[in-house]
Amino acid sequence: MARRKKIYEGKAKILYEGPEPGTIVQYFKDDATAFNAEKRDVIDGKGVLNNRLSEFFMVGLNSIGVPTHFLKRLNMREQLVRQCEIIPLEVIVRNFAAGTMAKRLGIEEGTPLPRPIVEYCYKDDKLGDPLVTEEHIAAFGWASQQDMDDILSLALRVNDFMSGLMYGVGIKLVDFKIEIGRVYDGDFQRLIVADEISPDSCRLWDIETGRKLDKDVFRRDLGNLADAYTEVARRLGVMPQNATPMEKPKLIN
Ligand code: C5P
Repeated sequence: MARRKKIYEGKAKILYEGPEPGTIVQYFKDDATAFNAEKRDVIDGKGVLNNRLSEFFMVGLNSIGVPTHFLKRLNMREQLVRQCEIIPLEVIVRNFAAGTMAKRLGIEEGTPLPRPIVEYCYKDDKLGDPLVTEEHIAAFGWASQQDMDDILSLALRVNDFMSGLMYGVGIKLVDFKIEIGRVYDGDFQRLIVADEISPDSCRLWDIETGRKLDKDVFRRDLGNLADAYTEVARRLGVMPQNATPMEKPKLIN
């Protein structure tokens, strides 16, 4: 790997300065973390799968006119993305009750919601990404009212696109999280979908069996995470070539 400047290292990705001004190289690690990094492991091949899957979703979104930061995939673990100012919010869209919302409101996981529910969390690891309202967002100046209108519209478009895509391969999109970035074209500012969209940031359940095909497999110790992500990639026709073999040699007594 050529020498280059590391800009930021997160739990699942490293960002490097890109070859052109205004670009960033996003490197996908194999590290899996949950519960604000209290639980962690290295899952062989996860970074390769998420790089390919995030590319697949972002290219699809770009092609239907939902702007994203994705420019091109560079190799098995890296993609070139447009540099943007990340709005410090995790934008969560839910179609079925699950996870923290199911727990917080005492609703059984899997209960269909009458309409998609959008939630916002303030991005701050030290605080554990607390749930916030639009009142907090406006009062603390994290985003303007116009930004919030645009964020809601982007989030719902991503939801429709991802729900349809997943439904077509027998998967229910239960919920997901996106991050939104600000880019400037001259004096003009616009918002784009940034970060990643992958089984790390979505809840994906097999429609027939209810099998979980997302990071809950790791969070809840339900089996092999790479197998679950490989299944999503296989159904979508996004199998990485020359990926790290998922099958490890078994020891025989
Ligand atoms: O944990 P919770 O139920 O709030 O998560 C809702 C959705 O957002 C899930 O799909 C989860 O994977 C995603 N999420 C995420 N990163 C976080 C918090 C939630 O990708 N920090």
